Amino acid sequence: MGPLRAAQLFKLRFPDAACYQVTLYGSLAATGKGHLTDVAIESTLQTASTSIIWKPEVILPRHPNGMDFEALDSAGHAFGRMRMYSVGGGALQVEGESQEAQAQVYPLSSMASILKWCDENGEPLWRYVERCEGSDIWAYLEEVGQAMMKAIDHGLGAEGVLPGELKLARKSRSYLAKARRCHDSFQRTGLLSAYALAVAEENAAGQRVVTAPTCGSCGVLPAVLRYTREITGATQEEMLRSLAVAGLIGNLVKTNASISGAEVGCQGEIGTACAMAAGAAAQVLGATNYQIEYAAEMGLEHHLGLTCDPVGGLVQIPCIERNAFAATRALDCADYALLSDGKHRVSFDEVTVTMRETGRDLCSAYRETAAGGLAIHWKR
Ligand code: SF4
Repeated sequence: MGPLRAAQLFKLRFPDAACYQVTLYGSLAATGKGHLTDVAIESTLQTASTSIIWKPEVILPRHPNGMDFEALDSAGHAFGRMRMYSVGGGALQVEGESQEAQAQVYPLSSMASILKWCDENGEPLWRYVERCEGSDIWAYLEEVGQAMMKAIDHGLGAEGVLPGELKLARKSRSYLAKARRCHDSFQRTGLLSAYALAVAEENAAGQRVVTAPTCGSCGVLPAVLRYTREITGATQEEMLRSLAVAGLIGNLVKTNASISGAEVGCQGEIGTACAMAAGAAAQVLGATNYQIEYAAEMGLEHHLGLTCDPVGGLVQIPCIERNAFAATRALDCADYALLSDGKHRVSFDEVTVTMRETGRDLCSAYRETAAGGLAIHWKR
């Protein structure tokens, strides 16, 4: 998603190039083929010739997902250049350009300060999102929610093998069929898994998904939203409020740590998705602000240290199953928080900082380079 947006931005600024040259660095280069990065860039730039140079051995100091775009004239001379970074969830940073506009949307940058604001004003967490974003946020979240549900439906309707050398078969449809014939906890696991698999498989097939917070972890939140709506009969308004809470949680992680597997490993992607989904489920199920914070904290805490080691650089093994497991865990976290009075020892802010530091300590083989873990030990 980040490279696609980078290509769109570059093409907008330099539409008249005879050809383009793109250099991918670090993790983007190491797993770019499996992540369809080259396909996304070439289909966006749409010139007769786009050359892509892969430099996995070069890690740019600012972020491991770096890329250089160059616009060339017909004589092969570069007349436009931009260095950009894909920092997770489709977000971009452009070298030499300010990132301040994004940070100003939410003036409070910790969960503790937001909870304090809620206490002082007697408001729920979603109201803080509305105050910061304006009432237009609801129309936007409606669109986001619809796109998530469409991804579930489209994924459940698809069968066959996913693109790539692994020849991995889609499973969501069969999980749904079996889940419908079951009851109680088996059905809960079956439905959550079917929905999460459906969206993760859509991502692996290059179909439309919502980054939540990233493409690799895109199945967790939609699955939990769909399932909680089915079991509670929650209204559309209630679902949108839970989506707002999920977004707030994801934004806090992005602000204070990272949602990029290349920077902090899979704990930043699946761990954050689980925290967002846990908070959203808790909101739907009637939790207090402190119970929501607790649910989100557990979602992240119990993914600490999770490595990123995609087999073949494809977002398939272990990524697809990981979405299903995180979805069930998210709901467990929400249930656990609701059983409590919201008091707990490790705060969401503390676990976020812990995740960031743990990610920094992970060796690069476990940060979206496909150079360690399952990516090297799994045998066909
Ligand atoms: S293993 Fe890596 S590529 Fe797969 S979901 Fe986790 S962070 Fe993303």
